[in-house]
Amino acid sequence: MPATEFDPDLIKNAFRKYLKGFYAEHSRQMKFCGNTPESFVEWKKSAQQRVLELLSIDHLPVETPEMRIIKEVKYDNYTVKKIQYQTLPELIVPAYLFIPENCSSPSPTLLCPPGHGSGINQVIDEEGAYHKYPHVFAEAGYITLVPEHISFGERSTSGQGECSFDHEALNLLGSTVIGYRMWELQRSLDLLESLPQVDPDRIGCAGLSLGGEMTLYLAACDPRIKVACVACFLTSFKGTFLKEAHCTCGYVPKMARDFEHVDIASLIAPNPLMIQAGNLDPSFLVEDAMEAYTELLELYQMLDVANFVTLDVFEGGHEFHLDPVLAWFEQWFKD
Ligand SMILES: [Zn+2]
Repeated sequence: MPATEFDPDLIKNAFRKYLKGFYAEHSRQMKFCGNTPESFVEWKKSAQQRVLELLSIDHLPVETPEMRIIKEVKYDNYTVKKIQYQTLPELIVPAYLFIPENCSSPSPTLLCPPGHGSGINQVIDEEGAYHKYPHVFAEAGYITLVPEHISFGERSTSGQGECSFDHEALNLLGSTVIGYRMWELQRSLDLLESLPQVDPDRIGCAGLSLGGEMTLYLAACDPRIKVACVACFLTSFKGTFLKEAHCTCGYVPKMARDFEHVDIASLIAPNPLMIQAGNLDPSFLVEDAMEAYTELLELYQMLDVANFVTLDVFEGGHEFHLDPVLAWFEQWFKD
């Protein structure tokens, strides 16, 4: 008597179901479980160390790069310098540095890591998701730096990025491309701090999508970022990378086993953090951003700084909602 066959749909869908159960059972193993400011400080130390361990960048040197100025374009109230600097002898970072007019005393500064796509030119030149935010901040008196990530724009042979290859190659070698990008952003901070016009107590970071992901990791791991804005990223691994395929270059092996987005964001506390979510964004959902925000708010309340975290839900898609971002930095850096 032959056995009854399993339903073919059961076979096809089995692994997705299994993954959900695996996530429920094994994720967030290092989330904060305490309820006092003292226990948070303790947790933050070990959790930061673990995030850095997972990013796998401890073989990379910590040296302040020197910049070369390639060209300058003058606008009414600021100058845009096209610069280059080396993070390793082989790794040259093209970037745009915006210096406001009459920038004689130390000024507030914004680091602008680009999102996934065609790189720094897309951020500063094109209308669209970024709304040219480095120009808007420069106009408001901020020094602004837009550095090219590994794999994209001027650092890509195709112009569209070899990011998956770079990610996989680095994984095989025991490191991560997210880690390399963050390490390069830290060298960008070194460079900014070496400029006399930059006020090291007023350096912020704001990014959209992959730029938001990089803002999240950088602000979580480097205390030199005093204020952050993560646009259209901060939701959950569960609702994004574990729900549908995204480009692999945003993945850090084992990260979701120990931390969710909200746990990485918790490392930013008690520094000010704005989260943005567009109600038409198909991939980074408002509901997931709200869930993360609710959990973060509890932490910030426990630390007695409830108004240091905010969620801006706006009418729009996968893009910056610029006025509130500028107002957020003005609130902390100018008032
Ligand atoms: Zn990619």
